[in-house]
Amino acid sequence: MKIAVLPGDGIGTEIVAEAVKVLNVLDLKFEMETALVGGAAYEAHGHPLPEATLKLAKEADAVLFGAVGDWKYDKLERALRPEQAILGLRKNLGLFANFRPAICYEQLVAASSLKPELISGLDILIIRELTGDIYFGAPRGRRTAVDGHFPGAEEAFDTMRYSRPEIERIAHVAFQAARKRSKRVTSVDKANVLETFQFWKDVVTEVGKEYPDVELDHMYVDNAAMQLVKAPKKFDVVVTGNMFGDILSDEAAMLTGSIGMLPSASLNASNQGLYEPSHGSAPDIAGKGIANPLATILSAAMMLRFSLNQASAADRIESAVKDVLASGLRTADIHSDGTTKVGTKQMGDAVVSALTTITKKTTKS
Ligand code: NAD
Repeated sequence: MKIAVLPGDGIGTEIVAEAVKVLNVLDLKFEMETALVGGAAYEAHGHPLPEATLKLAKEADAVLFGAVGDWKYDKLERALRPEQAILGLRKNLGLFANFRPAICYEQLVAASSLKPELISGLDILIIRELTGDIYFGAPRGRRTAVDGHFPGAEEAFDTMRYSRPEIERIAHVAFQAARKRSKRVTSVDKANVLETFQFWKDVVTEVGKEYPDVELDHMYVDNAAMQLVKAPKKFDVVVTGNMFGDILSDEAAMLTGSIGMLPSASLNASNQGLYEPSHGSAPDIAGKGIANPLATILSAAMMLRFSLNQASAADRIESAVKDVLASGLRTADIHSDGTTKVGTKQMGDAVVSALTTITKKTTKS
């Protein structure tokens, strides 16, 4: 099991170190190799995704990714900005399906900005298409920008585009995921205004006929944004395009209390995947040792389940995280009265210790 470890920038290095610590106490053998990505790679090699990093990622069974970016790179031309590393990895590895589970842990109900009854027991899965839509349509790159801006320009535009195979493959992923859950898919579009999303809706409906056991409904994105805060538990699997998925998955993230809790997986057709927390590099808290490592640790659990075929190890990590939360330990972002505030390293250590206890019990039984 070969894992490419790409910590990146800001809190990326701090949180990935904790996830690696957790993986290392599992009774499994991994080959882990670390490489630079994002701003750190730009500083060292002049490019956010150097050839050697891309090669390592391509050869690995899975990539464990921290986060990239810093405001200090905002003036760089777009192709050299740290965030381009993620787009490059998605494109080169063919990662088209982004899984973002939004699960509200019982112990963190109070950390949500919504009423407890709305989010208690919440467990939804947002599946975002990653390789198409307005982020990749022409005329990307044809404009002449100065320092990333368009002084004196009269207009700027991007093109929204989806092909039938792109929609079909993500729809299949969503229906198959729903089969393992409560067999409901909500496809989110803007078919009332955008041709691209009328096409999306038509193709998802066609694919849905192959899954008669799964209930499919369609919702406009503006309504979905509203329903996510009004009655989030109405959803189970939500499938949508790249841009709507980007926005809705962050909204769903906040339902659960903190973005520091939410893992994500991006998979290609052969289940090779990139696993990363849903948040960014958090330059505002980088280097302070206070970032929440749980989203990254839970991303490592997703990696074990989806790319490395080690579901029981994934279950053990998830149980360890629950045990640590139950014991009252909290990083600053999820801290509330009556709980104990800890830093990044202490949180990682606590998960390691809970995991070791769980593994011992499992081995005995
Ligand atoms: P962010 O997610 O980095 O931070 C948003 C807020 O959440 C900040 O207040 C931050 O302190 C807090 N936060 C994030 N992760 C946390 C954690 N684990 N524990 C505790 N608090 C946490 O988003 P941003 O501030 O908009 O962006 C910062 C940089 O990250 C930018 O350069 C952006 O482009 C980049 N970014 C990268 C990715 C990625 O690598 N996949 C994703 C989003 C943003």
